[in-house]
Amino acid sequence: MLFLAVKMKAIVSHDIDHLSLSEHYLKDLIVPKFFVRSFIEFFSGLISFSELHYRFLDVFKNQWQHIEELHVFNKAHFVPTTYFIGVNNGIGLSYSRANAAIWIKKMKELGCDVGVHGIEFENFEKINAEYLMFKNLSGQAQFGTRMHYIRTNPNTFLNMSAAGYLFDSSEMGFTKPYRIGNMWEFPFQIMDGYIIEKPKQWQSKTFKQSCEETQRIIDKAFKGNLPYLGIDFHDRYFSDAHKTWKDWYMWLIEYLVSQDIPFVNFRQAINELEGSRSYVEIKINKP
Ligand SMILES: [Zn+2]
Repeated sequence: MLFLAVKMKAIVSHDIDHLSLSEHYLKDLIVPKFFVRSFIEFFSGLISFSELHYRFLDVFKNQWQHIEELHVFNKAHFVPTTYFIGVNNGIGLSYSRANAAIWIKKMKELGCDVGVHGIEFENFEKINAEYLMFKNLSGQAQFGTRMHYIRTNPNTFLNMSAAGYLFDSSEMGFTKPYRIGNMWEFPFQIMDGYIIEKPKQWQSKTFKQSCEETQRIIDKAFKGNLPYLGIDFHDRYFSDAHKTWKDWYMWLIEYLVSQDIPFVNFRQAINELEGSRSYVEIKINKP
């Protein structure tokens, strides 16, 4: 039997957890908690005075998204990206649906793919309502999703598939993409927060340690013959207020370019996978 080595490609996506600071006032405690975290990071020597200064400046700018700057960087490196944006509120995601609609339109104009940053994971009715809400707002016939905080239960993927999602990327792990009904699940391996913060809830690694950890993950994906390396980076951190995060992301993209790893988005990967016809499929019955 002939085994052909599969050349790994990278899929980059971005979760939009925040647009402004003011959307959190009176709704949640994200902003005060963020400044407590920032002081811990500053006094631990993990962030500089300049980063802390930029974090305070953001209060006056009222900006916690960096979608356009990130897009310029991605475009210059030929990285086709997918943004996941919320149309419901929950666990610290507090921007309005009206503001989400403005950004969906802008991201489509920039030529990016846009899907749902899902809040509803518990049952079919809620997942389906969120799917239809995004469908109406975005005017797209087909799109994907990733759950905020990658929350799922044993039926979430089945219900997403039944709602009509084209793809999901909420599973973390070293597994090849697989199909559940008509939906593709793309497990991903690299998430900014898991690398830079874990095991703490604030930055616990230096830039060098973060890069070393990332290289280990990429090597593991290579050894596991994964056809796609999944990367989740939050646009919020593409900022001088989060220098380690921004430098790490730029290093990661440039490292993948130097390793000759091409970038595709989820839709391109689906076309490749369906063309190859060698995938695992889990059949489902509609609820
Ligand atoms: Zn999120």
